[in-house]
Amino acid sequence: MIKPGLKIGILLTLILVLPSLFFSAYEISNINQNEAVIDSVYSSQLESILFSVNQYSDDVISGWANQLDKGKYGVETEIKLLVSKNYSIDAFFLIDSLKHQLFPKEKIPEDSITILKRNLENAFANNAGNIERLQEYIKSGYQKIGVLDFNRKGKSLFAFARTVDSLSVETVLLLVDTEKFIKENLGPKIQGIAQDQFYISVIDKKRNTEIYSNVVFDEGEKNIQQRRQIWLFPAYDLGIQMKGNTIEDLVRERTNTNIIMLIVMDLILLLGAWFVYRNIRQQMKLTQLKSDFISNVSHEIRTPLALINMYSETLEMGRLPSEEKKKEYYKVINTEANRLSNMVNNILNFSKIESGKREYHFREADINAEIETILENYGQHLHKKGFEIKFEAFDELPKLIIDKEAVSEAIINLIDNAVKYSDETKRIEIVCHADLEFAYINVIDFGIGISKKDQLLIFDKFYRVSSGDLANKVKGSGIGLSIVKHIMDAHNGQITVQSSKEGGTCFTLSFPLRYKNERFEIVDI
Ligand code: ADP
Repeated sequence: MIKPGLKIGILLTLILVLPSLFFSAYEISNINQNEAVIDSVYSSQLESILFSVNQYSDDVISGWANQLDKGKYGVETEIKLLVSKNYSIDAFFLIDSLKHQLFPKEKIPEDSITILKRNLENAFANNAGNIERLQEYIKSGYQKIGVLDFNRKGKSLFAFARTVDSLSVETVLLLVDTEKFIKENLGPKIQGIAQDQFYISVIDKKRNTEIYSNVVFDEGEKNIQQRRQIWLFPAYDLGIQMKGNTIEDLVRERTNTNIIMLIVMDLILLLGAWFVYRNIRQQMKLTQLKSDFISNVSHEIRTPLALINMYSETLEMGRLPSEEKKKEYYKVINTEANRLSNMVNNILNFSKIESGKREYHFREADINAEIETILENYGQHLHKKGFEIKFEAFDELPKLIIDKEAVSEAIINLIDNAVKYSDETKRIEIVCHADLEFAYINVIDFGIGISKKDQLLIFDKFYRVSSGDLANKVKGSGIGLSIVKHIMDAHNGQITVQSSKEGGTCFTLSFPLRYKNERFEIVDI
């Protein structure tokens, strides 16, 4: 059978913790999905930036090609203008069926020009298929820029066709210094697009070195996220990276915070469930203790009642031979009635304490005399039970302001326990002494003792030690010591215990001396 406490624990876990754990798992899996979505949006954004840089380089060359047709000075002058104005253009080479015309950059030596011309002619011949396709395009009204194979380091060769008149088409080769083009023509565009948000670089694929970037970047921070080939310069790649925290970093950071928050929330819930469970368990324990208390009290009351009943019945029947015997019976009835009234008082006081209605009336008292009275009242009963009592009074009467009824009640409770929990050695000592700050009353027995663990619990209401033969046999309500503790708290004092299984138990009541304890003025006479 599952214990009710455990059942509640399982139920709480099911009701409170499981749904939240499921929710957390669901959220965490969603976070990953969200991360993937954000990542793909971000990737396509980077891709479109790279696309626009690529498109722009295409536009620059197409713009030059257009200028040959649309410029107002005629092809040759326009070419010369373009060559002189653009640092990155090395040469234009016009080829039609009749002539081959080279327009190189100024100041190129004559022999270099001859070599260049030969090279361009070779390239023209080697890329014949390609050029034919460009001519087909122009015939259908579309001018396309072609990239030709050209084996000169750092140079790129482009070709496009143009219609001269309705019958003839000519080819234009354009020789460009690649790095100059990237720096001069693409650079400003890259700066404009990147602004302060991105780091865009151009990488020489063969050497894997960066030949241009919009910002000087610390190597350590470099982490290119997207890389695309430049259409017009296949030997080069464009790379892009977000400045500062990347979206991935941000998403990861957010994901981590979310996961941490969820875990913290789950932990709080678990903690809450544990507290509720603990509380319920305590309440259940208390309910159990209360029901034990009722059965214990009934049991305790029954014994003196039975004795009173028996002795009074015998007296009533007049069967007792001598006056002495009668006296003895009356005494027993008296003692048992006192015990009963003590028990009932204890319970009433306990209930007053519980409801916060117990009042104390403090005044200066002769504590030695109080203890003497207690011993007078109980002495006979104790002697009858075989107890030897030793009382060491205060040498000098301490100045104590106390509620003497309450203190007597505390001492009676302690003596009562000493009687109940003594086994073979039936001796009780009451030793009083004082130092500069406190007056102490020790109630000592040589009984069964209290384990260290139980010493921490015996002052709790309803707590009773359940291990050990005698502790189990002896009936009690479990409220005596909690009442004593309450009385001592009200006196601004303390109850402490020293005990061992072999040596018995010593309870000490410590009362602060009057001059240390101005709180207790005489409030009631
Ligand atoms: P009870 O009515 O059970 O005596 P108390 O509150 O007076 O209730 O005491 C609580 C528990 O402390 C007792 O059940 C007993 O086990 C233990 N106890 C109290 N006084 C002594 C003592 N003098 N020697 C051994 N055990 C004691």
